[in-house]
Amino acid sequence: MLRSTKIVATIGPASTDLDVLTRMIQAGVNVVRLNFSHGGAQDHIDRANLVRQAAQACGREVAIMADLQGPKIRIGKFENGKIELESGAQFILDADCPLGNQERVGLDYKALPRDLQPSDFLLLDDGLIVLMVTKIVGSQIHTVVKVGGELSNNKGINRQGGGLSAPALTAKDMEDIKVAMSFQADYLAVSFPKSAADMIMARQLANLAGEHYEHKPMMIAKIERAEAIPALREILDASDGIMVARGDLAVEVGNAAVPALQKRMIKMARGANKIAITATQMMESMRVNVIPTRAEVSDVANAVLDGTDAVMTSAETATGRYPVETVETMAAICLEAEKFENYKLDPNFFNTNFTRVDQSIAYGALFTAFHLKVKAIATLTESGSTALWMSRHNINVPIFAMTPSVATQRKVSLYRHVQTLKLGLSMDRESTLKNAEELLLANGIVQKGDLIIVTWGEPMHHVGGTNALKIVKVGEY
Ligand code: PGA
Ligand code: MN
Repeated sequence: MLRSTKIVATIGPASTDLDVLTRMIQAGVNVVRLNFSHGGAQDHIDRANLVRQAAQACGREVAIMADLQGPKIRIGKFENGKIELESGAQFILDADCPLGNQERVGLDYKALPRDLQPSDFLLLDDGLIVLMVTKIVGSQIHTVVKVGGELSNNKGINRQGGGLSAPALTAKDMEDIKVAMSFQADYLAVSFPKSAADMIMARQLANLAGEHYEHKPMMIAKIERAEAIPALREILDASDGIMVARGDLAVEVGNAAVPALQKRMIKMARGANKIAITATQMMESMRVNVIPTRAEVSDVANAVLDGTDAVMTSAETATGRYPVETVETMAAICLEAEKFENYKLDPNFFNTNFTRVDQSIAYGALFTAFHLKVKAIATLTESGSTALWMSRHNINVPIFAMTPSVATQRKVSLYRHVQTLKLGLSMDRESTLKNAEELLLANGIVQKGDLIIVTWGEPMHHVGGTNALKIVKVGEY
């Protein structure tokens, strides 16, 4: 069975291995996320090479998403790697402290003391530890521990309610963009954007760095700041997709607000012809257990029903014990949830105004495919844009983006409902359409006598010009 919802897997020490990575891709990974918060430039380059190698071993195209660290504020390291904080204890965050101990720890963002006031709450390690600011003394933030626990090296810090002044792109991010473009990352995720301007700037830097490789990445805005919520419309306009980055978002806006925001954000993204990824703690307990909790299973299934393009793993596959099993489990949950989906042409579909020719063909194909119950839609594409229009609606007909471009194959591998097959587009229409049909037959997608829809652009060698649609009975060309 074809899975519509895609899987983004973060890799790290637990999965930086050709065998593990190969098994993860076989189990269903469509996009690999490289987290630039951990590791140096060479680590990312090596990992990207390993991903390409593993994908090739599986005969698949897998996209790479480079995820910039952004202005994530982190504590420094401890003498012994970690400490145990007791509730009620005093603790100091000190920008000038080189190595932490039971009393204090360093900070990587020197300006943090200036953004804070007494009685502000700081949440560490995604909110597991809570500190209340008591006073600011120069570079030192004095706090009292409200919720204690184990605190280890380099954990993140958020201020409850948001409002920290750090810009979205740090000097490190700007260097990392160059690294990501050197291996032609298909997707670039920007952390903590507050506005469209942050995304526009990141895109410009990425396109500039990618120029040498004739490469333009797809831009993903991670929605993880309180300020990004009211700016979502403009951020979507400036991006190719969003990540519902529930880890940091929950800390800023409060846990309870996140599920409703997730639904709203996914709906808005799809309505704006953009992609949505649902991220963080989806299979959290599988870091240490071979089966997920019932709540995690429901979380993944609900994200599928919300219409997400992809579900994502973080620590589960980066540092967890069961990276392969996590992907297998997620894939199985997605498939089951998709069976329950209510497939219909959304009423908005009929009220949508459109003026573009390729969009008209995409919608015409969906309408026809839905009513004729065709087995598959084959969209012959250079850029993947027709596949994107089609993939924003739920009609339970698989969409095959057929393209000669490997970059496009990788890009569309994140789009919901879209599968990809490599197809050379020749100048001769008859033979190209025949090849498309045969590709579906050879892959066991269709049988003789099935109806399919094929869309393409004429003349055949032009980019971005889908202007034709044909309904084909397989084998009766
Ligand atoms: P991170 O982003 O894993 O880079 O922190 C995702 C999130 O905050 O949920
Ligand atoms: Mn985050």
